[in-house]
Amino acid sequence: MAKVKAIAKYLRVLTQFRFLRNVSRHGRVLVGLIGAFVLTIAIPAAQTTKSGAEVYDIVVVNGRVMDPESGLDTIRNIGISGATIKIITTEEIAGRTTIDAKDLVVAPGFIDLHQHDHESSDYALKVMDGVTSTLELETGTAEVEGWYARRSGKSLINFGVSAGHLPARVAVMGDPGGDYPSGDAAHRVATEAEIAKITALVRKGLQQGAVAVGTKPGLTPGASNWEMLEVFRVAAEFRAPVVDHQRDTRTDQATLETRGLLGIDEAFAAAAITGAPLHIAHVFSPRVFQMVAEAQARGMDVTTECYPYTSGAIPLQTTIFDPGWQERLGIGYKDLIWAETGERLTEESFARYRQSPTTKRVIFVALTENMVKAAISNPLTMIISDGNRYHPREAGTYSRVLGKYVREEQTLTLMEALRKMTIMPAQRLEQRAPMMKKKGRISVGADADMTIFDAGRIIDRATIEQPARPSEGVQYVLVNGVLAVKEGKIQGGVAAGRPIRAEIR
Ligand SMILES: [Zn+2]
Repeated sequence: MAKVKAIAKYLRVLTQFRFLRNVSRHGRVLVGLIGAFVLTIAIPAAQTTKSGAEVYDIVVVNGRVMDPESGLDTIRNIGISGATIKIITTEEIAGRTTIDAKDLVVAPGFIDLHQHDHESSDYALKVMDGVTSTLELETGTAEVEGWYARRSGKSLINFGVSAGHLPARVAVMGDPGGDYPSGDAAHRVATEAEIAKITALVRKGLQQGAVAVGTKPGLTPGASNWEMLEVFRVAAEFRAPVVDHQRDTRTDQATLETRGLLGIDEAFAAAAITGAPLHIAHVFSPRVFQMVAEAQARGMDVTTECYPYTSGAIPLQTTIFDPGWQERLGIGYKDLIWAETGERLTEESFARYRQSPTTKRVIFVALTENMVKAAISNPLTMIISDGNRYHPREAGTYSRVLGKYVREEQTLTLMEALRKMTIMPAQRLEQRAPMMKKKGRISVGADADMTIFDAGRIIDRATIEQPARPSEGVQYVLVNGVLAVKEGKIQGGVAAGRPIRAEIR
């Protein structure tokens, strides 16, 4: 290619020389041919070896290549040039940089559809956990353009966001709690005029290329069924999936059975009425899995996700802890841990900490180990982190699934786990953001987002006490063909992450 470009440029320059205009046509052709011939010899063969084979920017050799889309699971060499996978082969190939992946698994980079904190320190933890694309879809933002602008050209990994109903509600109705409302945006029913403003903000976000619509009626119980339906209508216009934290999260089976599935019903109904694709956030209930499977069988575009932890982390003043939380969550004070100190809460400390700012979190243990295992191994679920910097799942989710649940406990196979981390989340977003057709795969023409790890060693290290401890066992990570992690270490000054964004209208 370099030669062709140089010769074309030479010929263009040649036509600009005035003296040649006086030379005969044959003369001009002769000068052109001689020049082109000289260039052909003179330009060094930068892109090929002596035998004429192509030299790639990076080659990953001798690795166990696992691609959940095709089912490929064997030793292959991969050639990458620019940001793209160019060849997958058993033949020897040459590159300017060679990564020896002997005894390592070469997988598509992990895609986390549910990550809340998006600063560079968060991305550093994510990449050490094998994540190459991370998105804030559940909460989203009320200012999509600015959200992308703040991260463009500065991010270690790929990033994306949804147009959020909750932040739009906070922007329109005002609330001291911001993304974790506790005032009007949480509790008050909106007027018709306010609903119009909220949906207008969601629509604007979609016009600016947001990849989904986030809804959290579980944290905005003041939003009526009609308000939610209006938001689903906007999502349907854009064929954008609605990522829903349902109104009435029930985690324990007993409460589910006695209190019903109010929030799930609302989301399914809104999706069925409007035609909006639906992605139900963090599901652990067998009955909800059954409903998702039944809806899929009837042709509805419904998907779901889960994380590999028994606990969550959230500010204490959110509506989740409004009176009645013990019944709703099936837990008590002893199941709440104040993240800052590690202490278990009592009735007294609960009341005191409920006045704390939203930057402080409570860890609540609401699930059993068996519920987590059943959710992770259910073929319907994608693996997501629901990560924030107050909980170990931001740093440890993917290594925990691959180390604890695949290797140690054999809850699911390695390929099944990778499918939930790569191709499933990519396909969830493809219709809205066609660029995702090139992610989550190891195939020729796909983006070179790649996670190369030691399956015998990979494990999470983050704990509730130390949530920012990076995972171990991820040896190399490529983001758009650039090494972000090399020999287990983050490469300084690298910012190859790109926006994951839908068409801007
Ligand atoms: Zn949630």
